[in-house]
Amino acid sequence: MIPQKFEYAAPDSLKSALQLLDSGAKPLAGGMSLIPMMKLRLATPEQLVDLAKVTELSYIRESGNSVHIGAMTTHYEVETSPVLIRKCPLLAQTAAEIGDLQVRNRGTVGGSVAHADPSADYPAALQALEAKFVLVSAHRERTVSAGDFFVDAFTTAVEPGEIVREMIVPAEEAGTATFYEKVVQPASGFAIVGIAVRVRRSSGKISFARIGVTGLSNRSYRATAAENALTGKSGSADEVQQAAALVFQGIDANSDLHASADYRRHLAIVHAARAITMALSRAV
Ligand SMILES: Cc1cc2nc3c(=O)[nH]c(=O)nc-3n(C[C@H](O)[C@H](O)[C@H](O)COP(=O)(O)OP(=O)(O)OC[C@H]3O[C@@H](n4cnc5c(N)ncnc54)[C@H](O)[C@@H]3O)c2cc1C
Repeated sequence: MIPQKFEYAAPDSLKSALQLLDSGAKPLAGGMSLIPMMKLRLATPEQLVDLAKVTELSYIRESGNSVHIGAMTTHYEVETSPVLIRKCPLLAQTAAEIGDLQVRNRGTVGGSVAHADPSADYPAALQALEAKFVLVSAHRERTVSAGDFFVDAFTTAVEPGEIVREMIVPAEEAGTATFYEKVVQPASGFAIVGIAVRVRRSSGKISFARIGVTGLSNRSYRATAAENALTGKSGSADEVQQAAALVFQGIDANSDLHASADYRRHLAIVHAARAITMALSRAV
C-alpha cells in the first residue's frame, strides 16, 4: 500500500502545468482514484503534476446557450451550483449521487471523466447532454464530443500531454425535463446501472429524447434505439416500457461480482422505465 517513488510538482498556472505534462508527467486532480491506484501499484507515474493550485481550471460559467465547467470543479460544487441547478439540473442531480460527501468534496469532474470508470455517474448525464470536452496540451486545443470521448473502460480520447480543460453542456431550454436514476453498489456508491434522461414535449407529443447509460457495459453510451422509440409518442406507460426494453440494444452487458450481465440488463430496463417516467412527469 505504498506508492512507487515519484516526483511531485504543484504549478499555479495552466501554462506551467501543460509544460510539465508535455515532458511525460501525469495529472493529479482530487486523487480519489489515482492515489488508491498508486498505492496498489496499478498506476506507477514517475512524475505527478498536481492541478490543485491551477485555479483557472475551477469554474462554472454560463455563456449563451451553454454552461462551461472547468475540470477542477469538485462534485460538491457541481451539485450545489445555482447556475447548474437552474440551467443543467441533470448534472447537479448526478453529482449529488456520487459516493459520499468526502469524495464529492475532493473529487473533480475532470478527474472523474478522465478516469472513465465504467460505473462512474457523470458519463450517463454527459452522454444525454451531448456534452463537449475541451482538451488542451502545450501544443494544441481541440474539442471532442461525449460520444467520442469515452472510448472503453478506463480509456478516453485524452492523449499523452493533454488534459481535460472543461466540459460544455447545454443550458436547458424551457420545457426540457431531466432525471438520473441509479442502482447503487452499496459499498462504493458507484452505479451498477445508471440512466440519465432528457425529454421535451410539444403539443402533447415527445419531441426530443436523449438517454445516456452508464454501468451496463465497458463504456457509457446513448441508447438511440430507445430515444427513437419515444420520439413522437405521447409517453403512455406501454410506450415507455417498449422504449425501455431497447435501452441495451447493440450493447454487450458486463458481468462482475456485483451483477451478472442478465441482471444488469434486467435492471437497465426497469430503471430506464423509471427514469423516463420521472422525466416525462416533469415535462409540461
Ligand atoms: C470511496 C469512493 C466512492 C466513490 N463513489 C463514486 C460514485 O458513486 N460515482 C462516481 O462516479 N465516482 C465515484 N468515485 C470516484 C470519484 O468520483 C473520483 O472523484 C473520480 O473518479 C476521480 O476524480 P479525481 O478528481 O479524484 O481524480 P484523480 O484521482 O486525481 O485522477 C483520476 C485520473 O484522471 C486523471 N486526471 C485528473 N484530472 C485530469 C484532467 N483534468 N485531465 C486529464 N486527466 C486528468 C489522472 O491522471 C488520473 O488518471 C468514488 C471514489 C471513492 C474513493
